[in-house]
This record gives sequence, C-alpha cells and structure tokens, in this order.
Amino acid sequence: MSERVIPLVDQRLQALRAAVPALPVAATGLVADTLGRPLRDLRISVTDRCNFRCSYCMPKEVFDKDYQYLPHAALLSFEEITRLARQFVAHGVRKIRLTGGEPLLRKNIEVLVEQLAQLRTVDGEPVELTLTTNGSLLARKAKALKAAGLHRVTVSLDGLDDATFRAMNDVDFPVADVLNAIAAARDAGLGPIKVNMVVKRGTNDNQILPMARHFKGTGTVLRFIEYMDVGASNGWRMDEVLPSAEVRRLIDAELPLVQLDPSAPGETAERWAYADGGGEVGLISSVTQAFCGDCNRARLSTEGKLYLCLFAHNGYDLRALLRGGADDAELASAIGHIWQGRGDRYSQLRGTLGADTGSGGRRVEMSYIGG
Ligand code: SF4
Repeated sequence: MSERVIPLVDQRLQALRAAVPALPVAATGLVADTLGRPLRDLRISVTDRCNFRCSYCMPKEVFDKDYQYLPHAALLSFEEITRLARQFVAHGVRKIRLTGGEPLLRKNIEVLVEQLAQLRTVDGEPVELTLTTNGSLLARKAKALKAAGLHRVTVSLDGLDDATFRAMNDVDFPVADVLNAIAAARDAGLGPIKVNMVVKRGTNDNQILPMARHFKGTGTVLRFIEYMDVGASNGWRMDEVLPSAEVRRLIDAELPLVQLDPSAPGETAERWAYADGGGEVGLISSVTQAFCGDCNRARLSTEGKLYLCLFAHNGYDLRALLRGGADDAELASAIGHIWQGRGDRYSQLRGTLGADTGSGGRRVEMSYIGG
C-alpha cells in the first residue's frame, strides 16, 4: 500500500507576485517562453471541489470531511475569468478547457461558457471551448452547455467493470451513469467525445482491453493516461505506472493499430488508429515519453493564480492585479512577461535535480489547477 502524505503547509496560500513590467509586453498573439513555446492552450479551474475521490488525484484520506475548500469570495467571478481569458487569447490562446475539481459543480457554469464563447482568436476565429468532467452531472447539463456555446467534452472513466470503477472514484459512483452521460453529450452534439482513462498498474490495467473494445467503432476517442506524480498527496510510485508502450502492445495484439500524425502542435496524446477503420485511441505518456518540448499550456487556478506547469509549486497571483485596478493592457503585459520567463519542463527532467522548479514547498494539487 503506497504512503499517503498529509500536507501540513497549505500550498494554496503561497503565491508569486504578478508584476506589471516596466517595459510593457504587448499582446500580439506571438508571445513565446524561454524555450520558444507559444501560448496556445489555457486551462481554467472553476472550482477546487469534486464529488469523486479518485485515488490518483483527490485521495479521501487527504481530501476528507475536514478539508478546507476555498471560500466563494476567493474564487474568480465569471466576469473576472472572462476578462483574464481575453488577455490570454490576445497573446495567442486558441483553446480554452474548463476544469476543476469537477467543473459542473460550479453553479450556472453555462453563464461562463456563454461569456467565453464570445471570445475570438487573434485571427478572428471562435476560441475552441472544451470541458473535462467526471460525467456525474453531464447528462442533465449537456444540452444547456451546448446551447451556451461549448464545443466538446472530455469525460474521465477509469474502467468498465463497476467494482473497479467504484473503487477508483472511491464514492461508489456507477459506470452506467457515466456511460449514459457520454451518450447524452453525444446526442447534444458535444462531440467528438474524448474519454480519459488513467491507468494504474495492478489496479485497473485489466480494463484496458474491455474499454478499447467498448469504445471502438463509436466515434469516441479513448485516451490512456500514464499514472502521474501530480501534487503531493497520491503516494505515487513508479512501479504503479504502466508505460504507454505496454498499453499499445496490449491493444495491438488483439486490435491492430497504426500511428497517426499529431492533429495540432503541443497535443498531449500520441494518436493511434485501429487498422480496420474502427476509430482512434490516444496515449498520454507524461512519465515515459515527456512532451514538454512543445507544451503551450497555461493553467489558471480557481482563485486566479497562473501556473506554468502541471507540476509547478507556485502560481502568479493575477487576481491581486485584477482586483487591484489594473487595466486590460497592464493585465496582458503582466501575463506576457510571466510567460516570456517560463522555462518549465518537469516531465522531461523528472527524477533529476533540476526537475522541481519553484521555491521549495511541494507541487500543486491537480484538483486545484485542473489536469
Ligand atoms: S510537465 Fe509541465 S512543461 Fe511538461 S508537458 Fe506537462 S505541463 Fe507542460
């Protein structure tokens, strides 16, 4: 049984100051970090709460009944989120993903979707608007989200076997309800649906083939995610990681696969198609095949901190600037300046001394900034 770490220091209280640089950084859509990576993808966490307790993300022992969630006043309002998102889009963001915790727990999230759906890229195109959910509330919200302007959803599902899935979400939530939600999202036009399965060796790797067989030929893209050392609470061990290469071999032996080209720069999933035309699967291999080289993702926490990597320790407090009276140009300049100084590439350096960036402390929890 892997060791769980009960965090003593509330990492959420730490923040880096987001300063408006003396030399303004104009929003031209072309800002790049120290490794030449543009800013193209913004993940926005709209709540730090979730109704699941997946062991690899929000283990029950840590996120228990005494866990202090962020007070509502600390959360960015929908108007504040949209105002910040507009600056990121002006710097080149083309895709916004709403995450959490569980984003559908945020009340009236359709209102935020409607606001974000008005945003246009530097080329005047609609910003691609997606959302990652555990599916528990999706069936009843799918139509309203589509009507508000959401383009697509990604649903997390870690197995088809009910006992395995209930054990992994640790709140006894049934598979059938998630499958119904996927069908409802498809019917509402929120496709092509992507399904994410986190693979933990010895826990749910026996679900790889049943999941592949189930979603093959349905138009749903199934992605297998290597179990990651995110945050500091999940007791991660390397021997519980099943490398994507083994996942691919397992599927290929029964359902032959052919490799596909990435559909966009910075894509996290390696794409494979069923040779018989039965659709596509993805492999997300942060542990064994790091993809930091063209990582163009920024993350905004629920209370307005900008994180430059999923494995970062600290974020830049944009909320202080926002509520401190900064105008849009100053906000954009601060965001551009922060991005220009970015050098994060944790997965590439994992296990080496240089891996952990940031001033001590511990890595931010995935449930706080979204996957
Ligand atoms: S580890 Fe950090 S830099 Fe690397 S791909 Fe993930 S988020 Fe990007």
